[in-house]
Amino acid sequence: MSAPKKGDLSPSEKELFEVITGGNVQEASRLLGCKDVRVNCLDEYGMTPLMHAAYKGKADMCKLLLQHGANVNCNQHEHGYTALMFAGLSGKTDITAMMLDAGAETDVVNSVGRTAAQMAAFVGQHDCVTVINNFFSRARLDYYTRAQGLEKEPKLPPKLAGPLHKVIMSTNLNPVKMVLLVKENPLLAEAEALDKCRRVMELICEKCIKQQDMNEVLAMKMHYISCVLHKCVAFLRDREDKLDGLIKCLLKGRDTDGFPVFQEKFIRESIRKFPYCDATLLQQLVRSIAPVEIGNDPTALSVLTQAITGQVGFMDTEFCTSCGEKGAEKRCSICKVVIYCDQTCQKLHWFTHKKVCKKLQAQREKHEAEVAKLRQQQNKENANAVQEATESMEGLSVKTNSEGTESEKANCVPITAAGN
Ligand SMILES: [Zn+2]
Ligand SMILES: [Zn+2]
Repeated sequence: MSAPKKGDLSPSEKELFEVITGGNVQEASRLLGCKDVRVNCLDEYGMTPLMHAAYKGKADMCKLLLQHGANVNCNQHEHGYTALMFAGLSGKTDITAMMLDAGAETDVVNSVGRTAAQMAAFVGQHDCVTVINNFFSRARLDYYTRAQGLEKEPKLPPKLAGPLHKVIMSTNLNPVKMVLLVKENPLLAEAEALDKCRRVMELICEKCIKQQDMNEVLAMKMHYISCVLHKCVAFLRDREDKLDGLIKCLLKGRDTDGFPVFQEKFIRESIRKFPYCDATLLQQLVRSIAPVEIGNDPTALSVLTQAITGQVGFMDTEFCTSCGEKGAEKRCSICKVVIYCDQTCQKLHWFTHKKVCKKLQAQREKHEAEVAKLRQQQNKENANAVQEATESMEGLSVKTNSEGTESEKANCVPITAAGN
């Protein structure tokens, strides 16, 4: 069958585009089995079925099309949009990840010079931006699971690639979360294995800086992960309480306000230890963090997270106080100030939170009382204002009506004239 040309569609292909819009996966599957249907056919704008499915946010349809050999990097769209750009525009993180897994190039630009991440950011789809900026293919990691050149054994034992990839792909950079990810996998939570992972992270960091299209963001992320892993190794080797001890150190709040000083200092130090001093990103981060007194906003974690994941509004209240996961909803029943994913996260934090919980409760109650008082005052003022306005309106009512009609007429004339 000939190479697809824009708008040159067989009747079945036209039907396929319609079925994709409707979302009937079964029918699409049947059509893709027809002889006169090419999975990479192009509509009049140069859009493939995959681009349509991605744009419409239909994950099952995307999956089906990829299974049938849809080209994720087709670049025939009239404005140079790719399937990844359409996925980003749709705001669907699962589809965005699917395109990346299928090998979508992240640095291709459209006709106005924007990458998929920039397009997604432009329309406010920040979760998709995060997914794109943090993507690191398993294939790139698997490279280290094969002995290279004269090596007798690979730098990364193959069994570690899976769990390590999970850590790399995490968009939550809270060190507690990372240590929890390490701890949950017995293969990783072992000093020697973890030290190998740490070295691979450093090698990838170096590669990100030295490759032709330098990626400082990914380099910083890899460096930061290597720092967290390094700390894990140290605690596994030297401490009786191993990784639990590290989690405790990271969560321990200072007496005055419960601010986790160790965690803040650890993240600041990790950033400062980035081995490539000339990196623009490093300088930006240091400039943002250095003037901030420890305990004030922004925290090093929020600055780092914003730089690496593009996540904005990080200080919102929906993040778990322990592990930083998004969407936490369980509130401490006493102070009602801090929130957690679940009881596990709350238990992790209690040893230090209990010292400030009552204080936070008092603060909140005081604040709420003030707000209530202010609102009462405002309501009273509003009521007075309404009454005054009503009184003056009543005095003007006759005049207002006639004037209103006049101005309505005045408005109508020019518009009608322009229409004619
Ligand atoms: Zn949590
Ligand atoms: Zn509390």
